[in-house]
Amino acid sequence: MHKDDQVQQLWQAACSHLKNLLSDDAYLRWIAVIAPRSLDDEVLTLCVSNDFYQDWLQENYLPLIRDALTAVCGRHLQILFQVDTSAVLPSFDMEAGDGDTAASAAAPAKRPGKEKARPVVRLNPKYTFDTFIVGSSNDFAHAACTAVSQNPGTAYNPLFMYGGVGLGKTHLMQAVGDHALSNSQATVLYVTSEAFLNDYIDHLQKKSLASFRRRYRHADILLIDDIQFLAGKERIQEEFFHTFNELYDRRKQIVLTCDRPASEIPGLQKRLVSRFEWGLVTQIEEPDVETRIAILRTCAQGMHVALDDKVLEFLAERIRSNIRRLEGALTKLISYASLMRKPVTIQMASTILRDMLDSEHSEKLMIEDIQRGVAEFYSLRLADLVGNRRPAHIAAPRQIAMYLSRKLTEHSLPEIGRAFERNHATVHHAIRTVETKMKGDADLRGSIRLLSDRLVRS
Ligand code: ADP
Ligand code: MG
Repeated sequence: MHKDDQVQQLWQAACSHLKNLLSDDAYLRWIAVIAPRSLDDEVLTLCVSNDFYQDWLQENYLPLIRDALTAVCGRHLQILFQVDTSAVLPSFDMEAGDGDTAASAAAPAKRPGKEKARPVVRLNPKYTFDTFIVGSSNDFAHAACTAVSQNPGTAYNPLFMYGGVGLGKTHLMQAVGDHALSNSQATVLYVTSEAFLNDYIDHLQKKSLASFRRRYRHADILLIDDIQFLAGKERIQEEFFHTFNELYDRRKQIVLTCDRPASEIPGLQKRLVSRFEWGLVTQIEEPDVETRIAILRTCAQGMHVALDDKVLEFLAERIRSNIRRLEGALTKLISYASLMRKPVTIQMASTILRDMLDSEHSEKLMIEDIQRGVAEFYSLRLADLVGNRRPAHIAAPRQIAMYLSRKLTEHSLPEIGRAFERNHATVHHAIRTVETKMKGDADLRGSIRLLSDRLVRS
């Protein structure tokens, strides 16, 4: 067979492997854009169309790609990324369907008459100030958002909100956008930082960065959600830095959310950290029980169901740390009761929601507990499981520990990665591997069940 064909074949096989491991979006965005170039002396050269891909793949996907290649050719290859701007590479067609890229679109909003056309912004209609319950855990953030929505660009700029998962950051941020859209002619742009990044890459690939910049630098109010995603991503931080400066200089409002204070985002440029602190920084904390009850009550009213206070209290007592989960529990309960045509009782709640209540308990479980538990279970040294030494015989337990960290805690892939001194792609790979193995291996399923029971009860 011709050498080039060999390389193509090898890469195709690796791709099929990777396709199974990654989400469709990740596969199309990061793997489908790679073209294999050559294989010489066990070095496989892979081409991409710009250095952004090169950096990103290097940082995030190298181990995954390496493993896939090892799996298909049975030996370790070195991988070299090469930028070839002239190469015609398969490209991910961003126009087709990638709805989440940015909340703005070129199509003008349907507004009557001669009013200024505004880009469409997709906000969740439920996320308004009216539906937001204010309590001591979020009153400061709420007040700041109200002020910003009334005087964008002047009250507090930027507004930086941080707090844990499911505590209402996105809700409040979108309420700012909703208020501005209903009460002014302002151009509002809501986007997660991940979508911001993806949008950047799309434009980079189409060589249309100017239009990317136009889009973001001409907003009156720019809402960027979950900024922690920018951690360690130099190029996009650079781009965002300039967007920030331009908007700030023109007194346009910037609102940011994050799961932690900016100074605690690893690999976030100092100049960004300091800019994020120029305006107002506010924290959203876990809601107290009164607020949780009030949220449940409003939610039940929204579903036109009257619930006994005892049931609301039961739920609010048992599910403490995450409002999204609290709402999910309520919805599940109400759906069940209406299907069974039975009144909602505490007894019913504790039966129907058993899984949820258990995992609420295990939320306090920390990755470290899991690492320790798994190490003990397999009689390993904790340092071997976590550290940088990589004895091959413990790859499997390590993957199991990552898998359990994902199942039993609320931590994100990057957070789990940090705890294991690996990157998020490795964690993702580990989880998929364990899931696949579990399907065909009853012993493994048993061990994992045993382990997780032990951990949850510890
Ligand atoms: P975050 O962005 O902090 O992870 P979200 O804003 O997505 O959290 O909120 C999770 C869910 O909880 C949403 O459905 C939101 O409407 C609801 N929620 C959070 N806080 C409140 C609140 N104070 N009042 C009413 N609903 C809330
Ligand atoms: Mg959010």
